[in-house]
Amino acid sequence: MHIPFNRPHLTGREHAYIDEAKGFGVLAGDGEFTRRCSRWLEETTGTRRALLTHSCTAALEMTAILIDIRPGDEVIMPSFTFVSTANAFVLRGGVPVFVDIRPDTLNIDETLIEEAITDRTRAIVPVHYAGVGCEMPTIMDIAARRGLIVIEDAAQAICARYASRALGSIGHFGALSFHETKNIISGEGGALLLNDPAHVARAEIIREKGTNRSQFFRGEVDKYTWMDLGSSYLPGDLTAAFLYAQMEQAEEITRTRLRIWATYDAALAPLEREGLLRRPIVPAHCTHNAHMYYIMLPDAEARPRVIAALRARGIHAIFHYVPLHSSPAGRRFARTGSSMSVTEDSSGRLLRLPMWIGLPDEVPALVAKIIAEAISGGR
Ligand SMILES: *Cc1c(COP(=O)(O)O)cnc(C)c1O
Repeated sequence: MHIPFNRPHLTGREHAYIDEAKGFGVLAGDGEFTRRCSRWLEETTGTRRALLTHSCTAALEMTAILIDIRPGDEVIMPSFTFVSTANAFVLRGGVPVFVDIRPDTLNIDETLIEEAITDRTRAIVPVHYAGVGCEMPTIMDIAARRGLIVIEDAAQAICARYASRALGSIGHFGALSFHETKNIISGEGGALLLNDPAHVARAEIIREKGTNRSQFFRGEVDKYTWMDLGSSYLPGDLTAAFLYAQMEQAEEITRTRLRIWATYDAALAPLEREGLLRRPIVPAHCTHNAHMYYIMLPDAEARPRVIAALRARGIHAIFHYVPLHSSPAGRRFARTGSSMSVTEDSSGRLLRLPMWIGLPDEVPALVAKIIAEAISGGR
């Protein structure tokens, strides 16, 4: 058996749409398929304006420019996240201030945010780990009281909700990823959700190399020129054509992933009852998107044993983030704003299981059996 950790899912319409895009004759950014993707995002998330980008990283970088991050400005975020959450602000001279995560969802611990706020704090970046929502009402309340901007790193959170609201549409900004490891993909890809109409005009300029070309194409100005800071953050229309084929199937993809997730969850329930591991916790007010199935092992020593046992049967399971505060660049560019005990403990015990459409039906039960043997065998 060979069960990779991830296998990109194709809907079958990608090629047809790429051919159609070629026929439209616009291969650069902001062609017909880019428009369709933006409209889809606006309709499904309720955001005011969605801009496609090359990546979630690019969308996060755009927010750092949009909110004028200056050297020394602080941005509160979890340490248990992907490097781009921090790097986007460090590129502008900002200082990530890491706070610990909650032991249940592994999302930022909202009760620690206020203590980490200083005179230099400008923004909070909640990361919706595994497509499970952070405590957004509390975070938005803190931000409103302290005059801070909220940027949701919703890279893993397409089609997921907090209560009735789409993740990425609740803060001032939301950043999505369509990297091939995510639920809805275009190889590399992303989007910036602008939830406050006040940011739309400048975001369009930053995304188009600092020019007002977007306004020019809409006929709002008679020539376009250099207006502001900016870079090239827009994907070509062939990428958008591929992505649109995925978006059309987003509900179906999410439903199928949720079914696989539930199969793992049922197969692993007896192991949790025996105290061998903990399964993911999804609060009742969160609708997740089955981006990931992970387990928390009893201790860090069990993890290499479980990985090796699965590997011996051809099943590829992997751990996740090295906490950023302990990384070389994290130590250089960032600081901690709270104890990191939950982050350090959880990151050492977490294991992600293969989760992709087409995963053979027997895998979850087999994985559960191998894990039970590997954990018990080491005791
Ligand atoms: C995948 C991911 C990113 C980066 O997304 P790209 O589209 O590859 O730039 C950022 N943050 C988190 C939490 C992610 O999971």
